[in-house]
Amino acid sequence: MAGTLKRMWNARTRGPGEGFDLPSYVLLVNSLFSSPASIIPGGVAGILTPFLCWVSTGLDLFLDLTVLVAIVVVLRLLTFISYHRSDRSKDGYEETRRWDRDYFLGATAFSAVLGYSCYAALTHTDDPAAHITSVASTIAIASGYVSRNAGRPKFVAVQLLTFCVPMAIGLIQAHNVYYQYIGYFAFLYVAANIAITNSLHRNLLALSDATKQSKALASALHSQNLTLDAALNTMIHGLAMFDRDLKLAVSNAPHRALYGLPETLALPGTPITAIGRFLVERQVVAAGQLRDLREALAEIQSTQQTTSREIQTRGGRVLVVTFAPAAEGGVLMSTEDATERKATEARIEQMARFDELTGLANRFEYNRNIADSFGRMERTGEAFALLYVDLDGFKQVNDNLGHDIGDRVLTETGNRLRAAIRGSDLLARFGGDEFLLILPGANHAIVTVIAQRMIDAMSKAFILDNKTVYVTASIGIAMAPSDGATPADLLRHADTALYKAKAAGRNTLMFFNPAMAEEMLERHEIEVDLRKACESGSLELYYQPIIDLRTGETVSREALMRWRHPTRGMVPAGLFIPVAEQSGLIAAIGDWAIRQACKDAAAWEEHVGVSVNVSPLQFREPRRIVETVKDALIASNLGSRRLTLEVTESLLIEDNKTTLGVIDELRTLGVTFALDDFGTGYSSLAYLSTYPFAQVKIDQSFTRTVHSSEASKAIIEAVCQLARRLSMNVVVEGIETEQQRIAVQLLGAQRAQGYLFGRPEPLTNSQPRKDRNVA
Ligand code: C2E
Ligand code: MG
Ligand code: MG
Repeated sequence: MAGTLKRMWNARTRGPGEGFDLPSYVLLVNSLFSSPASIIPGGVAGILTPFLCWVSTGLDLFLDLTVLVAIVVVLRLLTFISYHRSDRSKDGYEETRRWDRDYFLGATAFSAVLGYSCYAALTHTDDPAAHITSVASTIAIASGYVSRNAGRPKFVAVQLLTFCVPMAIGLIQAHNVYYQYIGYFAFLYVAANIAITNSLHRNLLALSDATKQSKALASALHSQNLTLDAALNTMIHGLAMFDRDLKLAVSNAPHRALYGLPETLALPGTPITAIGRFLVERQVVAAGQLRDLREALAEIQSTQQTTSREIQTRGGRVLVVTFAPAAEGGVLMSTEDATERKATEARIEQMARFDELTGLANRFEYNRNIADSFGRMERTGEAFALLYVDLDGFKQVNDNLGHDIGDRVLTETGNRLRAAIRGSDLLARFGGDEFLLILPGANHAIVTVIAQRMIDAMSKAFILDNKTVYVTASIGIAMAPSDGATPADLLRHADTALYKAKAAGRNTLMFFNPAMAEEMLERHEIEVDLRKACESGSLELYYQPIIDLRTGETVSREALMRWRHPTRGMVPAGLFIPVAEQSGLIAAIGDWAIRQACKDAAAWEEHVGVSVNVSPLQFREPRRIVETVKDALIASNLGSRRLTLEVTESLLIEDNKTTLGVIDELRTLGVTFALDDFGTGYSSLAYLSTYPFAQVKIDQSFTRTVHSSEASKAIIEAVCQLARRLSMNVVVEGIETEQQRIAVQLLGAQRAQGYLFGRPEPLTNSQPRKDRNVA
């Protein structure tokens, strides 16, 4: 019997789990072992059935069958217990099939023994009690099997057959038509129950599939939710979605963090109004800002167009809130913390428009504003002025005191100039030490007042690091539209006026006039020609004698440069030296003058010296001028005592250690220095005692007015007295008349220079000729 069952079993279980995947197979087998409670009543009924037959009939066969059923029941119970006690978490097909098989064998043995017991009761006895007990129990237990083992319809079939077929045969063999009826009916019962079990099984499978699918769906949904959550929460921007009633559907962590919202206000269903109330109550945003957001919300609800608002939190953060339409009439609210971005944008904007050092507008901002001013002028006819401000002596501050101090002078200049104007006027730093001011609607008088205020503001000393620095300002002014129809013209003309202000002695203002433009044009032409002249050697030195008034002897000659211009004729130094200085040509021209003068003077009488004018700019290259002088003296073999270098006061205001170093170095060679044009600049008598000059030359303007001005007389006299005390020679320049000669001589002058004694002349003419002796 067991062998047959096993064969049946093997025949049925061809696949590892009858075609089920492992989880389903485990589930099915588990359903067989699911309720030990149902085994017990079934087992008890199974034992009682043959036992009652034995009690009623006294046949030993039934006692044997009782014992057999009891053994099967006990074995089945043991299988159950062992199933529930074992750890089946790692069970594979093999183990599951073993449990399946054990259950099948137990159940089939049970049904077979009971089926046989029923057959025996019907065929071996005439006892109606045994018949009823057996048939009723068999049908009842078989019914229990159907429902209990629905998970394994094939088991049910085997067990129904082993239960009911012996019973049916027993009934049919009885010579009782009612018994036979029940016997045939039993086959129907078996067939119907097999059909029911199959259908139950299919439903079970469908249910299991559905459970599996819904589980898979749930797990997919769960993982999708996790991904979405992760995505939402790793977003930098805050995100909240509201439904059509403006109740929160979902929000991410940044949204809560940006507004400092508690978890309770992040729950789905929270009305947007509650969130708004919280924000105002906790002073996250001001009520006005909330109103803005409400307006934006209303706007999106009515227009369905995305809209943004920028709000400033009380904590100083800038939030850009964007409302966009969402599905089903909802609203998507995204919040960007734009604090850093805005700050960077502001910084970039500041850098693009304003000068970093002074905080004033920069060149680009100026360009925009001047274009605006022209635009406004065209529309409204409003005139305006452009002021070009340039610092005097700033380069020296930078060179001598360092860029740090230079920067601070510029910063302070920015402050002073700003304080001198109206807040609405555009003041820009144009670069270096140049500033531009646009004054709208200003007339000549107002511009003069403002420009003068700026000059005055600059004339006060700068005290920086315990150093006192003086930097003045020169201002050139051009008026629009009269002085320029385009920004470029206006600027050029303001620059021209500035140039004239500088030339007029600096620390002053100058309005543009058309004559200046012509002059500038001429200067430009001169510069171009001068470059050519330097290359072609068309510069010459003329010499003018310096006379000892007591003896009338020429003691020295001053070298004055001339330029033989192809069309302009002989150009005097006064005209082209400033151009040479401005264009940087002065260094080369100055070198040449020193060498040439030394060479020329070497051929003169021993006692006649030579004076060479030196530009302050030549001192900017200290090594160069020292080397040039040394070379010139060596090359010409001229005694260094015969060489005098004439410098002007402007060199001294720079109060430059390097200048003093150069003067000292050349003095140790034996070269002497003369202070030229004394009285035209700062005229500080202090210079005379501070600097080691051998000679001071009083400017010709004093000579011209020696008869008309008591001041001129007094100055000449005072300088002569001081010079005598300091053992200096005084040369009075520009003596043209005998009266002037007498006057200056009476005032104490020892030496003189002027047309009266000799004009500047080329060497070929002046040298062979004895200089006029006036004494
Ligand atoms: P400065 O050194 O004061 O030269 C004297 C100027 O007065 C000369 O003008 C001379 O021609 C002029 N002059 C002399 N006597 C009289 C007179 O009786 N009446 C009048 N009205 N003028 C008189 P110049 O040659 O035009 O030179 C002008 C300035 O150019 C010079 O002034 C000097 O500062 C500068 N200069 C001349 N040659 C050179 C040079 O080789 N190098 C440099 N760096 N500067 C030079
Ligand atoms: Mg001179
Ligand atoms: Mg002079």
